[in-house]
Amino acid sequence: MRRFFVEKIPAEEGSVTIAGSEARHITRVLRMGPGDRFVLLDRRGLRFQVVIRSTEQGVVTVFLERPLPSPPASPVQLFIGQAVLKSGAMDLVIQKTTELGVNTIHPFISQRTVVRPREDKRAKRVKRWQDIAIAASKQSDRSRPPEITAVTTFTELLQRPFPEETLKIILWEEEEGRDLKSTLRSTLDRSKAVLALVGPEGGFAPGEISRAQEAGFRPVSLGPQILRAETAAIALGAVINYESFTPKRKDT
Ligand code: SAM
Repeated sequence: MRRFFVEKIPAEEGSVTIAGSEARHITRVLRMGPGDRFVLLDRRGLRFQVVIRSTEQGVVTVFLERPLPSPPASPVQLFIGQAVLKSGAMDLVIQKTTELGVNTIHPFISQRTVVRPREDKRAKRVKRWQDIAIAASKQSDRSRPPEITAVTTFTELLQRPFPEETLKIILWEEEEGRDLKSTLRSTLDRSKAVLALVGPEGGFAPGEISRAQEAGFRPVSLGPQILRAETAAIALGAVINYESFTPKRKDT
């Protein structure tokens, strides 16, 4: 059944009105109308089977027929600090890490960031990324979309508070002593959250690596190849997914 998203489902009211791009997609692209059913999701992870009551003046009114169980969230929370990349690459990171279960993406500017969105343009970029994350959440049937925070600086991100016991890593292609596998295997069962920083096209500056270490981050290698930043972020998401996913047992 098709899935659509609203910011908040007022479950107590029994019905919801949907406007904007979601309503246009329902009525104009899919030509759905009264009596048709779909799944409605919201940002908090609520999920209902709904039936269309009316589609007047571009607004779709639906009745909440029954609540649906949400798919299980990953047992490990993944936060990715991603240096802002050129448009297509950043869109790819947002889309693919959303499919792979990232909880929050923190875009940041660092010394070698090539793309530096102006202050007055940043909110628009973040809105675009949030729209990409919502679309990828619907497509991958996640319980809720990831949060995309405002663009910040590398320095501020190093100081941002994260849940106790979060494993903090910085992906560094010049790291020779520590690889992601042994780092995760030795710590993941204790820390139920991973915060990973991924650099820009030009990489992290040496001073940034040492400042990250002083802030408790462990430089970690993904292997001998030099990956594009978007490849590194997606590979990281896939590995965390692999390491933390436990198939639902049939008898549960
Ligand atoms: N020094 C790189 C070069 O020579 O092209 C530039 C950085 S790389 C294109 C972009 C980012 O991807 C890096 O800052 C790092 O965070 C991550 N990365 C790429 N390859 C990696 C690897 N083998 N291990 C860990 N991180 C890697």
